[in-house]
Amino acid sequence: MANVNKTALGLGTQRSVIRELFEFGKKRIAEVGAENVFDFSIGNPSVPAPEMVNETAVRLLQEMDPVLIHSYTSAQGDAQVREKIAQSIRKRFDYPAEADSLYMSTGAAGALCCCLNGLLNPGEEVIVFAPFFPEYKVFIEGAGGVMKLIPADVDAFQIDFDRFEEALSPNTKAVIVNSPNNPSGAVYSEETVQRLAKVLTDKSAAYGHVIYLITDEPYREIAFSGVKVPYVPKYYPNTLVCYSWSKSLSLPGERMGYVQVAEDMEEKEMVYAAVAGAGRFLGYVSAPSLFQRVCAQCVDETSDISVYERNKDILVKGLREIGFTVVEPQGTFYMFPRTLIEDDVAFCEKAKDFNLLIVPGTGFGCPGHTRISYCVPTERAERSLEAFAKLAAFYR
Ligand code: PLP
Repeated sequence: MANVNKTALGLGTQRSVIRELFEFGKKRIAEVGAENVFDFSIGNPSVPAPEMVNETAVRLLQEMDPVLIHSYTSAQGDAQVREKIAQSIRKRFDYPAEADSLYMSTGAAGALCCCLNGLLNPGEEVIVFAPFFPEYKVFIEGAGGVMKLIPADVDAFQIDFDRFEEALSPNTKAVIVNSPNNPSGAVYSEETVQRLAKVLTDKSAAYGHVIYLITDEPYREIAFSGVKVPYVPKYYPNTLVCYSWSKSLSLPGERMGYVQVAEDMEEKEMVYAAVAGAGRFLGYVSAPSLFQRVCAQCVDETSDISVYERNKDILVKGLREIGFTVVEPQGTFYMFPRTLIEDDVAFCEKAKDFNLLIVPGTGFGCPGHTRISYCVPTERAERSLEAFAKLAAFYR
C-alpha cells in the first residue's frame, strides 16, 4: 500500500458511476453509432457559449497587454472584474453587492470548498437536503465537517421543514441549498426561502451562534417560463452564494465562478477573510485571468438555454405517457423520475440494454429514482422515448 493519505487514495481510486456510464457510452457509440446512444449521464451543457464569449476572449488576447493578460490577478480576483460583477448583481437583483464581498473561484466547486473550509471547525455539521449533488459529501468531509442528510420529499422535492427542524442542533454550522436543483430540477419559492430564513434566524438565536446558509447556484439562470428564483441574500443575512458560469454560459471547462458574502452578514469582513484564507490554503488563489475578464464582460449574457425547457416538455410528457412518475422540473437540465422497480441501480443497469444512459438516484441520496440529464440535442430527447418505452415494456 502506498504511503499516502487514505481518504485521498479512496477518493482517487473510487469508481464513479457517471464516469463508468460515460466509458460505456463511448463503447456503445463505436458499436451502434452516436445517434443511437441516449447519453443522459453527464451535466455538460449541450449548447455552445454565446458568440460574445469567444469574441471577448479573442479581443482581450489581442488588445490587452500581452504580459498582463496572463499574469496573476489579486488572490481574490481582479478588482475591476469583481466591480463589474457587483454592478450586475446590484442591477439584476436590486441588492447592494460590493466588489470586496466577491472572491473569484474555479467554478461552484471551488467556491463551495472555499466556503466550507473557511467556515468549518472539525466535526461541525452541515445540513444537506436529498436528493443532493454527491460532491457535497466529499467537500464537507474534506473540510473536516460532517454531512447531515435530510431525506427527500419525493412528492415535490421541496424542503421537508419538520425533518429539517429535527435535524438542526447546536452543532449545526451551515446548511447548503441548491435551487434550481441538481438532480430534481426543483426551485425553491419565495415562501420557502422566507421560511428557511426564519428557521435559521430563530435557531441561530437559540444556539447563540450563526448558522450560515450556503446557496449553490450554478443553475440560477436556467429557470423555466414563469419560474422566479429568489435572490437568497435578500432574505437571510448570513448567506454565502456560490455561483458559477459553467452552466449558464456553457463554460464548465473554464472553471470560473465566485463566492459572494452577503452585505449584512454578521462580522462580514471576518467571514470574507476566512473564505479568502481557505482559498489560500487550498491553493485556490488568482482564478484564471483571461476567463475572469471574459465572464465579467459577459456577466449579463446566457447561452441559448431555451433548448432545455423544450427537452423538459418533451420528456416529461413522453415519460408520463409511458407510465413514469415525474415531478415536473422548474429549472436546470435534469429530471428525477421514479424508477419502475425499487432497485434503481438494477434499473439503470437494465436501461443500458436499450442504450439509455441514466444515473441511479442512490448516489444522490434518493434511491428508487433516476437522474436524466437532458442537455442533449432535442431530436435525441424525442427519439429516446422509444427506448424508454422498450425499457418500461420489459418491466410490464
Ligand atoms: N453544484 C452543483 C449542484 C452542480 O451540479 C455542479 C456541477 O455539475 C457543481 C456544483 C460544480 O460546478 P462547477 O463546474 O461550477 O464547479
